[in-house]
Amino acid sequence: MPDIDILAVSKLSPLFTPQLQAAYRVHDRLHESNPAALTALAPRIRAIAASGESKVSAALIEQLPALEIISVMGVGYDGIDVAAAKARGVVVTHTPDVLNDDVADLAIGLMLCAARQLPAADRYVRAGQWSQGPMPLARKMSGARLGLVGMGRIGQAIAHRALAFGMSVAYTARNARPALPYRFLADAESLAAESDFLVVITPGGAGTRRMIDAKVLAALGRSSPQKGILVNVARGSVVDEAALIDALERGVIGGAGLDVFEDEPNVPERLRALPQVVLVPHIGSATGQTRQAMADLAFANLQAKFAGTPLPTPVPECR
Ligand code: NAP
Repeated sequence: MPDIDILAVSKLSPLFTPQLQAAYRVHDRLHESNPAALTALAPRIRAIAASGESKVSAALIEQLPALEIISVMGVGYDGIDVAAAKARGVVVTHTPDVLNDDVADLAIGLMLCAARQLPAADRYVRAGQWSQGPMPLARKMSGARLGLVGMGRIGQAIAHRALAFGMSVAYTARNARPALPYRFLADAESLAAESDFLVVITPGGAGTRRMIDAKVLAALGRSSPQKGILVNVARGSVVDEAALIDALERGVIGGAGLDVFEDEPNVPERLRALPQVVLVPHIGSATGQTRQAMADLAFANLQAKFAGTPLPTPVPECR
């Protein structure tokens, strides 16, 4: 029996669980199912295994005196109280880079689906409507202007793909990256005003909360006669969802493609009722190949910690 105890704070991927269970004693969501048992076990828990959507509060960290590492299987870690972890000397790791391709592929897919109305076209054929005539014309993506809110690892992978569509690329972030061949704009509103597609790919958390608000959406709507399209593959918290629904219902923007939502898995009925919106259930990194690579990297971080070797991918705050 392995002699290191780990608390899994979310239902972990079946691609992660077998290797974790082979190497460690894993306690699955004990903090939720049996808090009293966790209290008894707390002095032995040396690691937390989490997913990108997990919440790890300062209170939970406080409750685990032997905690050394929080390993997140995901690149986003906005649900982890990193400041509280650092204050206790607990390192936080995540799984950057291995999911760039999948999230960028999905962003391009959502742009195409929203512009060319692919889900609606599929429904059109299935419902037998084709025999009554052609669908209304859609809009062209190739050659259009892409605005990226966020130009990190995934933002750059999206930009790279957009170039193959003959798109122009501009971006906003807190810092310009002069080495990149893309135009930098100081804020999301000015970027939206010059974008046919505005794609959001920043981290979640307090720094970006509701950054895409009614003003940004109004600017996106004014960007061209066809009105701009919003795509969010970042976190639901980055977009003011009520303002987005209002903008879509009133035809302020041209459409949207959304992978992430404010209160997952609950998607507001008003959003689900809108035909010009493409909705997918947070599947940015959800391919077998990428989830396996993420699981392997999350596991490698745990193994390195307990072997006393350098951690492959600590979060920037813990480097
Ligand atoms: P990254 O390399 O850290 O890039 C983040 C980008 O956002 C950087 O350009 C950063 O630039 C910018 N940024 C950060 N805070 C900002 C702020 N307050 N205002 C404006 N820009 C800001 O991260 P990544 O690997 O590309 O991942 C980005 C995010 O994608 C993740 O954190 C996660 O939330 C999301 N994600 C979603 C899925 C999915 O399934 N849909 C999958 C993976 C990742 P500056 O630091 O210069 O501001």
